Amino acid sequence: MKCGEMPEPLQLLKGQFMYQTKAFSAATATSPLTSVAIPRRDPKDRDVQIEILFCGICNSDLHAARNEWKDIMPTTYPIVPGHEIVGRVTEVGSAVTKFKPGDLAAVGCMVDSDQSCPNCKAGLENFCPNATFTFNSPDKHGTAPMTYGGYSDSIVVDEHFVLSVPDNLDLAGTAPLLCAGITTYSPMRHHGVTKGNKVGVIGLGGLGHMGVKFAHAFGAHTVVFTTSPKKKEDALRLGADEVVVSTNANEMKSHASTFDFILDTVAVDHDINQYLNLLRLDGNLTIVGVPSKPLALSSFALIIGRRSVSGSNIGGIAETQEMLGFCGQHNITSDVEVIPIQKVNEAYERLAKSDVKYRFSIDMASLKSE
Ligand code: NAP
Ligand code: ZN
Repeated sequence: MKCGEMPEPLQLLKGQFMYQTKAFSAATATSPLTSVAIPRRDPKDRDVQIEILFCGICNSDLHAARNEWKDIMPTTYPIVPGHEIVGRVTEVGSAVTKFKPGDLAAVGCMVDSDQSCPNCKAGLENFCPNATFTFNSPDKHGTAPMTYGGYSDSIVVDEHFVLSVPDNLDLAGTAPLLCAGITTYSPMRHHGVTKGNKVGVIGLGGLGHMGVKFAHAFGAHTVVFTTSPKKKEDALRLGADEVVVSTNANEMKSHASTFDFILDTVAVDHDINQYLNLLRLDGNLTIVGVPSKPLALSSFALIIGRRSVSGSNIGGIAETQEMLGFCGQHNITSDVEVIPIQKVNEAYERLAKSDVKYRFSIDMASLKSE
């Protein structure tokens, strides 16, 4: 699509009405993201069409763009990443009741699910075996082979998977709540993190800094484990009560058997046993980071203290809406570096080096000049 050209409605072979919109996409695991035109379906009865204003850059975007999860979740190219989406409603289908044109709206990691399995019925669409993720999932509407994410001008999503956005929050900092926010909020709620608990957050990145904000807001004594001593002041400013440099064995040892709950957000291979040893009796470590290789688990670190390790994957739609409400009430947003889409490849390089404070948020107005 050329500069200034408006997306044109077009009818494709299957008899479905679609339009073209601008996006950034990677053609292979080693290619940079570049400007392309992609198809989106015209809104159907239950659909909401959103003009995307900001989209966060999650480390999952990077894992998927580079096919780092190829053994479990291979990437189909071209890929348009992005699942931390905030924007304004431009059109709604005839059966839509919660949104009207002009409303703020958000979309996270899912755009569909079967809505009939026990997990969906329990509001846990994030654990639906037939969930459609916002990018790199087969597109059941047939608009394209796979779903295309939020590095784009607009998106069309079933109303059930569209969230309302509190109107008092900065929009660039709200986008990351849709993944980094809910992924850290949900396990803390599930494990009952509350006042008086001692809670650890491993890794002060996009997820980690949200984990610190939530643990602090829930009233827990919050400890950050970081490999980057230079992040100490930021961690304290974000709400941590203490900061431990995880490469310092003595500092680690001084916290032995004292934590109720630890959230592990690390995206690369690391030793989780040194953190398990810091849990008290019946303490839990929940993994949300997704390194491409399996982690080694010491039986001793688990059996001594009846400790447990769990995982957690984003959160259901109702809980995501609850989280956004909580953020509106407590004025919580992500600390973001706002960038134009043209800097996305540079941002990926920096994210891989943990060089971001603490989430990139793409100002999608920059896509208009492509
Ligand atoms: P991120 O911003 O890169 O944060 C990861 C943090 O891990 C870094 O900032 C760094 O913090 C720490 N780290 C880096 N290298 C390390 C090492 N060698 N040893 C220990 N810590 C290290 O990434 P993110 O966007 O928060 O995502 C984190 C992970 O969660 C990714 O794998 C992503 O795919 C996954 N994720 C999972 C879900 C889910 O639903 N479960 C949802 C979203 C993302 P320090 O500098 O403080 O050490
Ligand atoms: Zn994410």
